[in-house]
Amino acid sequence: MNIILLGAPGSGKGTQASMISERYGLPHISTGDIFRANIKAGTDIGKVAESYIKAGKLVPDEVTCEIVKRRLAEEDCKNGYLLDGFPRNIYQAEVLDSFAKIDLCININIDHALLMDRLCGRRVCAKCGESYHVSTLGGATTCAKCGGELIQRKDDNPETVSARLAVYNDQTAPLINYYTDKEIIFNCTGTEAPASTLFAVVSAELDKFIG
Ligand code: ADP
Ligand code: ZN
Repeated sequence: MNIILLGAPGSGKGTQASMISERYGLPHISTGDIFRANIKAGTDIGKVAESYIKAGKLVPDEVTCEIVKRRLAEEDCKNGYLLDGFPRNIYQAEVLDSFAKIDLCININIDHALLMDRLCGRRVCAKCGESYHVSTLGGATTCAKCGGELIQRKDDNPETVSARLAVYNDQTAPLINYYTDKEIIFNCTGTEAPASTLFAVVSAELDKFIG
C-alpha cells in the first residue's frame, strides 16, 4: 500500500508517520529528513537544500522529485511505502503520479492558531527523531526514549515558521482538492491531545486496507 501524509508543518504528520511505519512495516520516507541528512553529510544536494530550508521555502522541484523517484525504486518500497512531506505542490503530485500509484492520502487538518507555538517550542531528539514540546519537558535536555540530545531545528524559529505556513497555504493546501477529486483522501483532525489519540483514528482507517 502506497500512502501519502498531508498536513501543515506542526500538524503532527511526522509523528503519525513514525507510528504508521512501525505498526504496518512500511518504510517512512520523509523528504525533510532526507534533506537534513544531506546537509549534515555536506553533500551537493545538502548544499542546494540548505538555503531554501533556512528561508522556509521549497527546495526546487527538480531536485526533490529526483530524490523521491530514486528512493521509491529501492527494494524496501516494493510492498508499499509512506511518504511524509512529499508531494508539497501540484507539480510534485503530477510527477509522482507519472511513476507511482498512490492508494491513500491521509490529510491531517489542524487549527493554524496552534502551529506557531507548536513549532517554535518543538525540540527533537538528534538521535532517534522523537519530537517534544518545551512546555512538557520540565527543563530536560535529553530524549526520554533513547537518551539522545534534544535540539531545536534551525527552521523552527518564528520568521521561518511564518514562511513555511505561507508556503503550505499557497502551494500545499491545494493538494487536498487534488486528492479529494481522485477519491483517495482520508480526512482527520490533529489536536492538542496525545499523538496516540489521532493514531487510533488513522489506524482504524488503515486496518480497512491492510489489516
Ligand atoms: P515541516 O513539514 O515541519 O515543515 P519537513 O521536515 O517536512 O518539515 O520539511 C522541512 C523543509 O524541507 C521544508 O520547509 C522545505 O524547505 C524542505 N522540503 C521538505 N519536503 C519538500 C518537498 N517535497 N519539496 C520541497 N521542499 C521540501
Ligand atoms: Zn531519542
